[in-house]
Amino acid sequence: MSRRVGIFGGTFDPVHVGHLVTAVNARAALDLDVVLLVVANEPWQKLGGRAVTPAADRLALVEAAVSDCEGIEVCDLEIKRGGSSYTIDTVNELIANEPDIALTLIVGADVVANLASWRAVDELKQRCQLVVVNRPGSRLAEGRDLERQLEGWNSRVIEVPALEVSSTDLRDRAASGRPLDFLIPEGAIRVIRERGLYALDR
Ligand code: ATP
Ligand code: MG
Repeated sequence: MSRRVGIFGGTFDPVHVGHLVTAVNARAALDLDVVLLVVANEPWQKLGGRAVTPAADRLALVEAAVSDCEGIEVCDLEIKRGGSSYTIDTVNELIANEPDIALTLIVGADVVANLASWRAVDELKQRCQLVVVNRPGSRLAEGRDLERQLEGWNSRVIEVPALEVSSTDLRDRAASGRPLDFLIPEGAIRVIRERGLYALDR
């Protein structure tokens, strides 16, 4: 039988419970065999802003975070490929490796309005189902506007526990010495300490 695989991409700078709760609940709601946390090498939509933490460090954080989590795995295809990260390239690589794979893209509500700007979005629509999850602070469009944003996608919106956590807030917390505990899995906090990431090496 073909494997049902979720693709949950992100910068994961750093990974946090909002990502993990989303991955676990999307897997359950959609009956997926596995959800891949796909760590972006160079998030092209974030270039020109702050310096993104090196990909190898972000990958190590996600590895530590999911090591005990059944059905959730880290994917390093974008880092291995190098350069800018485009979901279409990752999708094509996964299909090339496993032609009968059934792919579901998982995105938070804040990402939906940007989907139209993704590279080769029409090909993505052909190759993947789309699942949108709620995210506190990011209201989905409604009615005709939402229809327009989701046009051409085989899409579903699902509810996951609403956790108001973001990597941006966690970087601020780390830099100002506020606690990260329970917002980031313990194993990943250990990696942050060991590697002195986010100025938390004190
Ligand atoms: P940043 O603040 O740096 O943008 P982030 O917390 O948004 O970080 P990303 O790596 O940008 O994390 O997001 C990866 C994916 O995870 C996106 O689809 C995003 O919508 C989703 N996501 C992030 N945080 C949450 C959350 N708390 N609840 C649901 N989805 C989330
Ligand atoms: Mg984000």
